[in-house]
Amino acid sequence: MKCYYHHDRDAFGVCKVCGKGLCLECMDTKSPEVKCKTKCGSGMSLYQIVTALAFLIIIALLLVSIFE
Ligand SMILES: [Zn+2]
Ligand SMILES: [Zn+2]
Repeated sequence: MKCYYHHDRDAFGVCKVCGKGLCLECMDTKSPEVKCKTKCGSGMSLYQIVTALAFLIIIALLLVSIFE
């Protein structure tokens, strides 16, 4: 099987979302599952969203404690 995006390269995995063959360059390396980097990649993982939210809450609490 060849990479869907690079027809001259062998596929190293198959995208769980769209089922296309992907070479190492086209895989979303940040995702624990095999996904296309561009089309099916999560972009922001749940872990990153939770971390960002926790950070914002900490900042908000700090600001509140400063102004009170
Ligand atoms: Zn590729
Ligand atoms: Zn895909």
